[in-house]
Amino acid sequence: MAFSPTSNPLIVSVSSSISSRNNPKPISLKLPKTKLMPVSSSEFSTLLQSCIDSRSLTQGKELHSQIKQAGFEKNRDLLPKLIKLYSVCGRIDNARELFDRIPKRNLDTFIWTSLISGYTRNGNPSGSFDIFSKMLEHGAEPDGYTFSVLLRASAELGFLKLTGQLHSLLVKCGIRNHLSVDNSLINAYGSAGVIDNTKKVFDRMPTRNVVSWSSMIRVFSSLEKFSESFALFYGMQVEDGIKPNEVTIVSLLPACGFFSSFRKGQAIHGWVIRNGFNLNLIVGSSLVTMYSRCGDYEGAFKIFNSLGRGNVVLWTSMIEGFSMNGKFDLALELFRIMQDQGLKPNYITLVVILSACSHGGLVNEGIEIFESMSEKFCIEPRIEHYSCVVDMLGRGGRLDEAEKFIEKMRVKPTGSVYGTLLGACQVHGNVALGERSAYKLFELEPENAANYVILSNIYASVGRWDDAGRIRKLMVTKGLSKDAGYSWIEIKDKVYIFGAHDKSHLEINEIYEMLARLDELIVKAGHVPSLKFVLLDIEDDDKKKLLCSHSERLAIAFGLLKAPPNVPIRIAKNLRVCGDCHNAIKVISKVVSRKFIIRDTNRFHHFSQGSCSCGDYW
Ligand code: ZN
Ligand code: ZN
Repeated sequence: MAFSPTSNPLIVSVSSSISSRNNPKPISLKLPKTKLMPVSSSEFSTLLQSCIDSRSLTQGKELHSQIKQAGFEKNRDLLPKLIKLYSVCGRIDNARELFDRIPKRNLDTFIWTSLISGYTRNGNPSGSFDIFSKMLEHGAEPDGYTFSVLLRASAELGFLKLTGQLHSLLVKCGIRNHLSVDNSLINAYGSAGVIDNTKKVFDRMPTRNVVSWSSMIRVFSSLEKFSESFALFYGMQVEDGIKPNEVTIVSLLPACGFFSSFRKGQAIHGWVIRNGFNLNLIVGSSLVTMYSRCGDYEGAFKIFNSLGRGNVVLWTSMIEGFSMNGKFDLALELFRIMQDQGLKPNYITLVVILSACSHGGLVNEGIEIFESMSEKFCIEPRIEHYSCVVDMLGRGGRLDEAEKFIEKMRVKPTGSVYGTLLGACQVHGNVALGERSAYKLFELEPENAANYVILSNIYASVGRWDDAGRIRKLMVTKGLSKDAGYSWIEIKDKVYIFGAHDKSHLEINEIYEMLARLDELIVKAGHVPSLKFVLLDIEDDDKKKLLCSHSERLAIAFGLLKAPPNVPIRIAKNLRVCGDCHNAIKVISKVVSRKFIIRDTNRFHHFSQGSCSCGDYW
């Protein structure tokens, strides 16, 4: 597919698909019209349920007044449903009012639980626990449904201790082998990242359903344990004969991409098609993200295009996909078309587009968007948006402006804002501002080793070795250590990890031979190693050796030895690629005529024929 901002493949396909989009069918309810029509509580119950399912407040309210007229308001079946109706429609206050009118002796577990659930549903999980303690005071006994709801609240609060307490309480209450409780436990432990407990619960379950398996997959995917996620995906089908559903797919897709596991992502996409899945916006958006994260923004765009007008999540995913692959102009164009289509960007879209402008060096465009945010989109800038602007100015070398911008911010600057400025000071070699930003950061986030490392590196890059050493010592006295750099490469379904100057690999001799050959080739082609990236006070020859053995260089050498010919070599790295490696890889891509796609902390670099898609902004 040819991509150019002027050929407008987007406009044609997007606008043609809009006309075919159907409006959702309005729901129709038959409501009893007069008191003369005798209606039983069970008929009311059915009607209420359909209002709950369709979340229709107006019809629900009408029904509520008819229930009152019919004298059923205190009916034990209808009351919890009325509470649920108001809570699913976002009216927790109405639900509470109704609840408070119920005589205490009539309160049963089901009614209590309906209100507990309402609070979490309306974004107030701690409210759920307030009601729960009232429930216990009142002597009502919680059942499995109550615990499922509370575990969801605890997962949302992210309080691991609370989850543990609920777990022992439910065991005391004699609740065992309860599918929905166990699923909620998996979710709560999983969202706290406690794999052991999650696995224990899962392994002990006598029966599991698609929710149990999907939750486990999501837990492993979110922890980037991708082979476990895939093992579960196959396990559910083979062991339990359970067919994955859309939730499973959306849980599994984030596992693809991180280790550049592109073929697996494609395999899932194929599976989705073969199994006749409706490619809806949720699955579609996560496929767009998966393809983009694997560096295949064209594949992502094909899916994007097949999904009709879509919604803001889909468009935001695609804009981010273009941006992370260095297609900043396309990101900006899509952002404009999105507005032409009448879709209103949300605050995430704005973070994504501002970050695209900053990485693409589109400073003026970015500032224009930032300044129009509150008026045009009715979104007050949050800290993430401010951060993007600081980054934008910093990358463009407008450091003083960036500092002044921070002073004028309407929200309190966080560590991430000063961290961005500090990073820019490192790139542009501004020692004085770098010092000021670093000392702010030492107050704001004293435990973050990266800030000490960067300041030390700033000193080192101008030869102030004593100051560099002093900061390193400060780091050691505080007991902090620098994150080690690693790169990953996947060859034939196996992931290989390389650390910097790694000598542990089985085929390390071949790898270093390849590195030496590459080094010779790129020097012949004119590459001069930038020794300023070696921040140690050592001889230049040793610096050169250290540069060549950065982890991404080892992974590249290994990839050239092992990957099938002519396919792009995909590598992931946990830190930012250093300037020298970036230059060297550009030259390598030319001398060996190979494409390299490298993902560092948050960006893709497509190296090909001597240049990189990031345009040296990263
Ligand atoms: Zn490097
Ligand atoms: Zn690059």
